[in-house]
Amino acid sequence: MKSLLFIALAFHSLFSFEYNLVPKKINNQIYCFFGKPQIMDTHNNGNITNSCFVDLGKSYLVIDSGPSYKYARDAHKAMRSIKNQKVSYVINTHIHDDHWLGNGYYKENGATIIGAKIFANTPNATPIRMQQFISKEAFDKTKEVFPTKHIEGVQTLNLQGVDVELTSYDKTIHTDNDMIVFIPSQSAVFAGDLVFNERVLSLRDGNINNWIDALNEIDAKKSKFIIGGHGSLYLSDSTKMTKRYLEAIKEFVLESIEMGLDITDTLANSRMSEFEHLKLYEEMHTKNIETAYRTLEWGDE
Ligand SMILES: [Zn+2]
Repeated sequence: MKSLLFIALAFHSLFSFEYNLVPKKINNQIYCFFGKPQIMDTHNNGNITNSCFVDLGKSYLVIDSGPSYKYARDAHKAMRSIKNQKVSYVINTHIHDDHWLGNGYYKENGATIIGAKIFANTPNATPIRMQQFISKEAFDKTKEVFPTKHIEGVQTLNLQGVDVELTSYDKTIHTDNDMIVFIPSQSAVFAGDLVFNERVLSLRDGNINNWIDALNEIDAKKSKFIIGGHGSLYLSDSTKMTKRYLEAIKEFVLESIEMGLDITDTLANSRMSEFEHLKLYEEMHTKNIETAYRTLEWGDE
């Protein structure tokens, strides 16, 4: 009897896994699921990233589909409780796998998946690692489903009467395939991982100089809402922390290079008390200094 109960419970938990996502209302049309400022693991199951949805009137546009099929399914369930409609479009801001592995759910339900041309052309450039970190139940049904509509440069799409301006960058910023989404009628920018808050960013695949330039360009749009890929700030000053951090590490690394310090000595002195309170400081900061050093050493301005 006991073992039967155990099996029943095991089955129950296998099929009933849920992320319990709660959307945050940004304005009457825009909502976001804000992820936790953590590294992906079997507790958060990849719910570490932001996924937003925009009410187009008759259906939704989703910006970043999250870490798994089930995440997307649960996100759509939460969307339907606000307004029961389908998701017609999904925009992927970049190839890091916490942002787009929910594509499969949306495609299965008829959505068009939109991404940078370079993302679609280099599907194996950044191998997915999600399945190594999250539970089997959470990863279940997740497949790599790539964008089918490809964006190059700056393009405005009219999605059910709403103009959506997409900028696919041709230079490395956070990755070599970043795309930002601007909706002028909402005065909203969805900046993907060009904007981090509440945690230290990842410069691993990025270029510090281009990243600072891109943030200045985003600020110049003077939008009411700027929503990043990580962190729950969403107003016009949400770029502040990312910019401050990048400028501080750039200044520090350039000074070290000028003083003739090699990378080992630079890293040994690289603690920055200003940012120590941020989540993931221990995990990311030293690596970011190292990446910045390698970029700036070559005078790659
Ligand atoms: Zn990323």
